[in-house]
Amino acid sequence: MSRASRPTTRADWQALAASLTLETRAYIDDAFVDAEGGATLTTINPATGETLAEVASCDDADAERAVAVARAAFDGGDWSRLAPGRRKRTLLRLADLMEAHKHELALLDTLDMGKPIASSLGDMAGAIACLRHHAESIDKLYGEVAPTGEDALGLVLREPLGVVASIVPWNFPLMMTAWKIAPALAAGNSVILKPSEKSPLSALRLASLAREAGLPRGVFQVLPGYGHTVGRALALSMDVDCLAFTGSTGVGKQLMQYAGQSNLKRVYLECGGKSPNLVFADCKDLDKVAEHAAAAIFHNQGEVCIAGSRLLVEDAIREAFVEKVLAAAERMQPGDPLDPESFMGAMVDRAQYERVLAYIRQGVEEGAVLRAGGEATEVDGKGLFIPPTVFDGVTEAMAIGREEIFGPVLAVFGFDTEEEAIRLANDSDYGLAAGLWSQDIDRVMRVSRRLQSGQVFVNNWAAMDQTVPFGGVKQSGNGRDKSHHSLEEYSELKTVWMTLAP
Ligand code: NAD
Repeated sequence: MSRASRPTTRADWQALAASLTLETRAYIDDAFVDAEGGATLTTINPATGETLAEVASCDDADAERAVAVARAAFDGGDWSRLAPGRRKRTLLRLADLMEAHKHELALLDTLDMGKPIASSLGDMAGAIACLRHHAESIDKLYGEVAPTGEDALGLVLREPLGVVASIVPWNFPLMMTAWKIAPALAAGNSVILKPSEKSPLSALRLASLAREAGLPRGVFQVLPGYGHTVGRALALSMDVDCLAFTGSTGVGKQLMQYAGQSNLKRVYLECGGKSPNLVFADCKDLDKVAEHAAAAIFHNQGEVCIAGSRLLVEDAIREAFVEKVLAAAERMQPGDPLDPESFMGAMVDRAQYERVLAYIRQGVEEGAVLRAGGEATEVDGKGLFIPPTVFDGVTEAMAIGREEIFGPVLAVFGFDTEEEAIRLANDSDYGLAAGLWSQDIDRVMRVSRRLQSGQVFVNNWAAMDQTVPFGGVKQSGNGRDKSHHSLEEYSELKTVWMTLAP
């Protein structure tokens, strides 16, 4: 492989970035097109401030057209009624193409939203695995025969829903996309993807790979643009059957309203979090736990739905443990996202950067003890970078202890008893993830069962793979990505009752 196609150093990635040709148009009805109204949006590299591209900014008219195309494709049956084994082959081809272009796809995400290239490469592995998993599983699912009497045959069939609109965020652009589109396509639906206005580039490149893989016309389309324009139009459409959303809780609530105002489309939500990470004094290796606790919040600049943003530490070890977390945080300073050694990159854009800095100021004003970070920084004299920031002495009354900041800001709480730890952990509108560090198996089982959370990570943070469902409870959402459970969301049960002649 040539140096440019297998980049390993910062200079390699810079060279690859300089050689990229960016797709900036929407992908509708098997063609790359400008938005009908001609509008564009600017996408900026937050690590340098450079404009990357002017991308088509779709609106109601584009949404209407794409939905009509998606519906026609669905009704035509070239995909929706294709044998699952043949859908599998096409999706596996798409996965292979993604594998072949993974460096380019990873680079697009890094340039678009500032995450470190090593992390983007990890996302590509996750996205490809997701596609392969759903492709492989779709021809292994059987329907059912209901246990009726002998005078009848009750068939329970699984059918695709129709037109699925996938609306995704910017923090893991291509991986979140894969989590939505892989099961939806595998199940036989027509999919319209609306990437975030802050990170549309990899989705548009994916569109050309989907075409190359042989997905039939109209089965997969990509509409870049703003949420309040094209996103809203898709959500209010009378001819979209399902909204599959990952993003903030506020927008998730809006989408449920849009569904109620339109056609009662299914709405699956993966929303925000303020995840607690509970550390008990009986842990064996506190250095290792501290390293994980720091990575749980500082990975991806804290722009992670399951970020372990509330660290709950048993008072007996709190002071010593916080010192270890501070030492780990010191090793996680932001760097050039194109440097494979960088652990943290830039914040996605100025709005998010200002929002995080405002929370940090509020934390200080509310009386939390700032132990690390707190001030914006730059890399090579530019960019929107915020270093690991740690507040100790946080209480539930403080905004930094309750609200999702979506940045590298850790709120440390102390607790005295197991009961207090559980109460603190559950005192949140959210319920996406929780961490639990303890060597006591009885405690682990007791506490795991009582945590109000879609997933509990025991003696790890964010260990996961494709076989395990991912999603939240409470205001963190109602859907499940990954595993065969996500396929259930993109299909409908139909019963066929046949009365048999005696
Ligand atoms: P966001 O809610 O602002 O936007 C998400 C998507 O919704 C974007 O594509 C946006 O354009 C679109 N959108 C915005 N307003 C809309 C509207 N009125 N109608 C239709 N679409 C609209 O979220 P974000 O800032 O992109 O992402 C950060 C949020 O995503 C955080 O809250 C984070 O926790 C959450 N998130 C959750 C998960 C999960 O799996 N639970 C994963 C990643 C991110």
